[in-house]
Amino acid sequence: MISQAAAHDLRAVLENVWYLDEPEDIATYSYDGFLPEFTPDAVLVPENVEQIASIMKIANEYKFNIIPRGAGTNICGSSVAREGGVIMAFHRMNKILEIDRESMCAVVQPGVVNGDLQKELAKYNLMYPPDPASMYVSTIGGNVSLNAGGPRGVKYGVTRDYLLGLEVVLPSGEIIKTGGKTLKNVSGYDLTRLLCGSEGTLGIFTEITLRLVPLPPAKTTLQAAYGDLDDAATTVTAILAAGMVPTTLELMDRTVLDVISDYGGAQFNPDTEALLLIEVDGDEDLVDAQGERIEALCREKGAMAVDRAQTPEEAEKLWQARRTAFGAVASMRPNCIVEDATVPVKRLPEIIRKVVQLTQKYDLQIAVLAHAGDGNLHPLIMTDLRDKEEMGRVDQMLEELCEAAISMGGTLSGEHGIGIAKARFMGMEFSETALDLMRGIKRVFDPNNILNPGSFL
Ligand SMILES: Cc1cc2nc3c(=O)[nH]c(=O)nc-3n(C[C@H](O)[C@H](O)[C@H](O)COP(=O)(O)OP(=O)(O)OC[C@H]3O[C@@H](n4cnc5c(N)ncnc54)[C@H](O)[C@@H]3O)c2cc1C
Repeated sequence: MISQAAAHDLRAVLENVWYLDEPEDIATYSYDGFLPEFTPDAVLVPENVEQIASIMKIANEYKFNIIPRGAGTNICGSSVAREGGVIMAFHRMNKILEIDRESMCAVVQPGVVNGDLQKELAKYNLMYPPDPASMYVSTIGGNVSLNAGGPRGVKYGVTRDYLLGLEVVLPSGEIIKTGGKTLKNVSGYDLTRLLCGSEGTLGIFTEITLRLVPLPPAKTTLQAAYGDLDDAATTVTAILAAGMVPTTLELMDRTVLDVISDYGGAQFNPDTEALLLIEVDGDEDLVDAQGERIEALCREKGAMAVDRAQTPEEAEKLWQARRTAFGAVASMRPNCIVEDATVPVKRLPEIIRKVVQLTQKYDLQIAVLAHAGDGNLHPLIMTDLRDKEEMGRVDQMLEELCEAAISMGGTLSGEHGIGIAKARFMGMEFSETALDLMRGIKRVFDPNNILNPGSFL
C-alpha cells in the first residue's frame, strides 16, 4: 500500500480529481486481457508530460510501483499491479498532435486509439499500417509498448517498422527524446527500437512519431474453403513462394468455423476444415492480376471453393467470419487463452499439425486462428481458470507448443508480448547471457525497479 505522504504528493500533482482510489473507480483497472484481479492502490490520470515527470520522481522517492496502461487489452498480463502499486492511465492524453503530409508522419499522444488515428488519416488518403484486431479499442501507447502487429503485417510489418521517434519519461523522472521525423537515423544506439516492445518496463511514452504511407487505391478480398487443414496451410507458403505478398493471409480452422456458426454468425459448407481469408492491395492492375493468380493457386492447392468480393460490401461480408471469430470462441467457456507462438512461414503446416496433436494429447478444446502469412499462430484455448486439473493440462500443452515453435526456429511471441504469461519460458529462447543483458538494461533505465516490475524478466 502506498503511504499517505506519497498519496498526498500525487494528489497535489493531479489536482486531486485525477487521483482515483475509490473502489468503484479502480475496479476496472484490476484486470487486463489476461490477468484476473490485482487491485491497484490508486489510478493516476495525468494530462501532460510534466505531471508524469513529477509522478515518477515521487514514485522514486517513496519507492512504489507504477504500471502504465492503455486500454488494458493486452493478453500477456502486463498492465495490472501484480506486485502492488498504482496504474497510470492515458485517456486524457489522447490527441493527434500533428499530421505532417510532407514528411509522411504523425505525432500522437499515447492514449490515441489506433482506429481513431486510422479514420483521421483516411481523410488525407493516408494510412498507418499496423492494425491489431483490437484497433478500435487499443491505444498507440500500448501498441508501441507491445510492438503490436495485425492482419496487414504480412505486407506492411509491425509497429516497430513505423515508429520514428518517441518522447519518454524515464523512471527517474527525466525526459528524453529518441529518433524524430526522419526516415533515416543511425545516430548512436537505437533507443527507439529498444523501447518499442519494452512492455512498459523502461519508460513512459508521452509523444509518439509514426511513419505513414499512402492509402492504397485498390484492394481485393478472397475467401478460400478447404476440406483439409493441411492444404490451406500449404497454400499460404505457396502464395509467398510464388513471389506474391498479399496484405492479409489469415487462417481459421474447423473449430473456429463451427463456433462462429453456433454463435449465430456465418454458416459454412459442412465439409470445410479450414478457411483462408486473403487480401491484396495496391494499384488496380496489380490487385486484379494478383487476385486472379491467387485464386488459381488456391484451387491448384485443393480449395473446394474460392469466393472473391466484387464490392466493398461483399468484402466486408467475407471479413465477417474473421471479425466474429475471437468473440465467438471466447464465449464458449469461462476463459480463453490466446497463444501467440510464431514460426518461419515455411514451418506453418508443421506447427499447425503440432497444435492438432497437442489438442488430442491433452484433451483440450482448441480453435486455431493464425496470421498465417507471417507464421503467427493464435491457438485459442477454451478453458476455465478455476479448474485446476484442466489448467495443469493447459500449462503442459503451452510448454510443449512453445518448445516446438522454438525448435522450428520460431519465437515465443509474434505480437502479444511475454508479460507474465510466458515469462517462465524465456529461457527456451534466450541464453542466460542474453537474459542477463536484458536485466542489465532494465537496471540502467530503472535502478529502483519501480516501472512495471516483474513483466517478462
Ligand atoms: C480481441 C483482441 C484482439 C487482439 N488482436 C491483436 C492483434 O491482432 N495484434 C496484436 O499485436 N495484439 C492484439 N491484441 C492484444 C492487444 O490488443 C495489443 O497488445 C495492444 O497493443 C494493447 O494495447 P492497449 O492500449 O490495450 O495496451 P495495454 O494492454 O493497456 O498495455 C499494454 C502494455 O503497454 C504498456 N503501456 C501502455 N501505455 C504505455 C505508455 N504510454 N508508455 C509505456 N508503456 C505503456 C503497458 O504497461 C503494458 O505493458 C488483441 C487483444 C484482444 C483482446
